[in-house]
Amino acid sequence: MNKKTKTIIWIVVAVAAFALIGVLFTNVLTGADELTFTDFLAKLKEGKITELYIDAYNWTAYVKDANGKVTEAYTTVAPSIYNYDSFYYFCHTLGVIPEATGQLPFALNFTDPNAGSMISSLLPVLGIVLVALMFWLMMRSASGANNAAMNIGKSKAQMQSNLKVRFSDVAGAEEEKEELREVVEFLKSPKKFSTLGARIPSGVLLVGPPGTGKTLFAKAVAGEAGVPFFSVSGSDFVEMYVGVGAKRVRDLFDMAKKNQPCIIFVDEIDAVGRRRGAGLGGGHDEREQTLNQILVQMDGFESNEGIIVMAATNRADILDPALLRPGRFDRQINVNLPDVKGREQILKVHARNKPMAADVNFKTVARITAGFSGAELANLLNEAAILAARAGKSVIGNLELYDGINKVLMGPQKKSRVVTESDKRCTAYHEAGHAILACLCKHCDPVHEVSIIPRGRAAGYTMTRPETDDNDVSYNKLVDNICMSLGGRVAEELVIQDVTTGASADLQHVSDVARRMVTQWGMSEKLGLVAYDNDQPVFMGMEYGHQSHGGYSQETAATIDSEVRRLISEAHARATKLLKENRSILDNMSRVLVEKETIYTEEVGMLMKGADWKEVVSAMEGKEETHKANPFASMTTPSKEHVVEETPADSAENKTEE
Ligand code: ADP
Ligand code: MG
Ligand code: ZN
Repeated sequence: MNKKTKTIIWIVVAVAAFALIGVLFTNVLTGADELTFTDFLAKLKEGKITELYIDAYNWTAYVKDANGKVTEAYTTVAPSIYNYDSFYYFCHTLGVIPEATGQLPFALNFTDPNAGSMISSLLPVLGIVLVALMFWLMMRSASGANNAAMNIGKSKAQMQSNLKVRFSDVAGAEEEKEELREVVEFLKSPKKFSTLGARIPSGVLLVGPPGTGKTLFAKAVAGEAGVPFFSVSGSDFVEMYVGVGAKRVRDLFDMAKKNQPCIIFVDEIDAVGRRRGAGLGGGHDEREQTLNQILVQMDGFESNEGIIVMAATNRADILDPALLRPGRFDRQINVNLPDVKGREQILKVHARNKPMAADVNFKTVARITAGFSGAELANLLNEAAILAARAGKSVIGNLELYDGINKVLMGPQKKSRVVTESDKRCTAYHEAGHAILACLCKHCDPVHEVSIIPRGRAAGYTMTRPETDDNDVSYNKLVDNICMSLGGRVAEELVIQDVTTGASADLQHVSDVARRMVTQWGMSEKLGLVAYDNDQPVFMGMEYGHQSHGGYSQETAATIDSEVRRLISEAHARATKLLKENRSILDNMSRVLVEKETIYTEEVGMLMKGADWKEVVSAMEGKEETHKANPFASMTTPSKEHVVEETPADSAENKTEE
């Protein structure tokens, strides 16, 4: 709650309290005995009454002593008579006026008939004011925590000046930095460019997966150029009131114009910038209006205005093409996942203020963290630091880094989760199934760790890490991957002769890979080299009213389904065959897992060579310390010596060439 809201609430409370006191106070003042009219008349006839007040509803009579102090007071509900003559006549007939004087025996006062009493006329007004205030407060809280109802249209942008982020804080990504230097140059001295008539990009779009440092880059540009940084998130524009988004955009740009040169940064621009289309429902109109307003504002830039709009998105392909036209976000910078060198540098940047053990080698860590984003690497180091602190260490060592990697990859270990013996056995067979197939299939990544300690949502895990940064994924690799992913389920089928729900994530993954092989990567002969699926999340509006299958017929859909099923069932058959042939390894490995819970490359290697479980367990005795000393050691020579040179069923060779 901000200051303003608090003040307002105090005012309301104060007014209410004042009103309450007022009401009480008048009651005390009048504090009169309420009488029936007859009794009241009797009092009047007694002749003690000194003053009589008549207002809209009541007659009130006072007896005052010589000092003017009220000693008695009576009130009654009575007809209001505001005319002295009528009142005199009225009193006369009732015998209130003594014959002797022929005068009213008390002073008569008419209070203004229309005003009523001060308080009673104020009360309804106060009530209305209070209700209105309450309503207003409710509106405020409904429209978001920080903006008053009057402020709804105001931009939610945050302005930051003097950002401390520099390019040196963004590790790796040299090409991206190079491209952005130009923008920095311009922001530093816009005149230099405009006098030469150079048209400066008004919009720079940063495209890349989450956590690759897009936001960081935008800040670094502002920091390097030393200009103010206005940041909003695309979702800030999407409000429940129509027209608010557009107004926010206007306010934001107005604010920026007053502070130029500066940077406007729209994070997650896809929230508003999606392709406009056949809008269904009101929400869309709002989004479109907002998007239109952004376009209008960007077009409205004078060429020499020192405002650069930066935006970030995970996917440029779903953005409205109008956003990408010249004069708008015409500069696109792809921010990719870091490569091995980039990862090493990022690790080093984030280790700057963390004490690391002397034997920590970031090269090794970088090597086995293929596919990690910058954010995940930063997170890894942070987790490692936390682990080290918890262990009471003064420096972060290899063990913490290793555990940090696992934690980032698979969530925290849940050692305390109660697992029954039969569940344990089942999980052990499941994971052993994965691990053995990973060793047997040529194109699978080497196994680093197999465990039946629950992590995240999984009951156990088999950790394989790629040896290189290979990004291109071949047909064989995918087929092997499907085979290995089915290993858990197949082991359960073979041993437990029943299946558990534990394989649901595996099956999800398998179907996903198989479907993409068929529909996106042209890896099915039947369907040929056609991309059937443009991998766009279905959002209302775009897809609606078009063909229901993204452009292909029912028959094609059926073929896709049958091809996906074929790939999976072939892999299933292969997995079953391999595990049956290596049943003794499966039994031994799962037994070791039940005994030891976690095994590493070395043990997996022993078991694959046919070692007995007892032998492996006793070899592991006392070796925990070695592992703790440097968990990465075993990874330097990952074993792929157990590969069975077996081509997957079906003629895989022909397909790899694609
Ligand atoms: P994005 O906006 O692309 O999702 P962020 O810029 O928010 O990613 O990055 C999240 C965090 O990850 C950053 O605050 C930073 O700590 C870290 N990070 C990401 N990329 C890098 C990088 N190249 N160098 C250093 N740190 C990075
Ligand atoms: Mg971001
Ligand atoms: Zn599994």
